[in-house]
Amino acid sequence: MNTKILLGEDQIPRQWYNIIPDMPGPLAPVINPQTLKPIAPDDMLAIFPMALIEQEMSPNRWIDIPDEVREIYKLWRPSPLYRAHRLEKALGTPAKIYYKYEGVSPAGSHKPNSAIPQAWYNKQAGIRRLATETGAGQWGSSLALACSLFGLECTVYMVKISCTQKPYRRSMMQLWGAQVIPSPSEFTNAGRAILAHDPECLGSLGIAISEAVEDAATHADTNYALGSVLNHVCLHQTVIGQEAREQMKIAGDYPDVVIACCGGGSNFAGLAFPFIADRAAGKNVRCLAVEPASCPTLTKGVYAFDYGDTAKMAPISMMYTLGHDFMPPGIHAGGLRYHGESPLVSQLHHAGQIEAKAYKQNACFEGALLFARSEGIVPAPESSHAVRAAIDEAVLAKEEGKERTILFGLSGHGQLDMGAYDAYLSGNLEDYEYPEQKIREALERLPKVDL
Ligand SMILES: *Cc1c(COP(=O)(O)O)cnc(C)c1O
Repeated sequence: MNTKILLGEDQIPRQWYNIIPDMPGPLAPVINPQTLKPIAPDDMLAIFPMALIEQEMSPNRWIDIPDEVREIYKLWRPSPLYRAHRLEKALGTPAKIYYKYEGVSPAGSHKPNSAIPQAWYNKQAGIRRLATETGAGQWGSSLALACSLFGLECTVYMVKISCTQKPYRRSMMQLWGAQVIPSPSEFTNAGRAILAHDPECLGSLGIAISEAVEDAATHADTNYALGSVLNHVCLHQTVIGQEAREQMKIAGDYPDVVIACCGGGSNFAGLAFPFIADRAAGKNVRCLAVEPASCPTLTKGVYAFDYGDTAKMAPISMMYTLGHDFMPPGIHAGGLRYHGESPLVSQLHHAGQIEAKAYKQNACFEGALLFARSEGIVPAPESSHAVRAAIDEAVLAKEEGKERTILFGLSGHGQLDMGAYDAYLSGNLEDYEYPEQKIREALERLPKVDL
């Protein structure tokens, strides 16, 4: 019985899988935040290169991965698929548990799968610098890595509270040559407006996105890069699920359930979309997205048009949202704090094609500890949501006395997240459930899009 199922470099996918032609219905239009009318592709050219704008709405099911991108993927891809024999034993479950591990990338998560092509397409378009935001620092470090590999400059607006909570992620970005600016900052109108109102503001992803978008929109040589949510990011991440499908074949198994944590939705999309394509072809596979109870976008949010950022500068999308001024509680250590959700993942959830579940953070860290003590790898706090859900599926299989094949995404390692683990181990992690009242209030502030 194998523990680790590996593929060769020549088995890195040659194409990304684009789910758009296989979606349950047409995509909702993306809306211009100023005019409240659908955006024309050219409107996006101020911040994105044409190649990525085209991928954003491409009708082609398969999109070639550029050779230069595949060459860099070889630094860590294909990533391993593990059979969690020791976790199964610890749980005494008849279920088989597999996990696809993305923590082997240089940045320690799945995010370079999209950072690398995004930097490459921008370089091809003659762009000199990329601006972005980062929360926990995973995306910022991934883009810093990608920019350093292609000789681009990189400016990262990092949520202020994360700069203090995750100082080593900041160091990592600087090590790869990026400029890191705590957000809200004095560098942008969006940042200055927030600080004038609240000088102590600890920042949020929504605010940092506003700053990075403004930076890109006001500098001709600078574009913006987003690490999740957008269709082209989900597209790039499908290397995960394509490899996992091949590896499951080698293992002689097929999953009954595919599980991944969900912030903006990109690692979930990356792992699950190739299996959702199988569903359309008649396979019986469930896909489960797992999110924190403190930022319960899919499980408690509404499916509506909303702004992608707090300052209402980023485009409006149809998605599950908690409201663009959502501010996650400072006590939340588990990541996955974005107010919205990938429009593709949202539409699939709305159509009943995928399931969603929310967990409180102590339950996730408890699962992560059991995982680390049986499988060895320390999960990223984000990934611990998927770990917890996989454990619960395995325990359910035991209670029901049924076999079950579980595949989950271990999106990253948590070796730079010891602050969060310390808080858990010392009993200082508070559980928090986002109140319904706040969601109802946020609904009042959604944009009134009238098509
Ligand atoms: C950023 C991140 C996530 C959440 O982002 P998605 O776009 O929802 O995948 C999950 N896991 C890790 C390790 C991350 O760095």
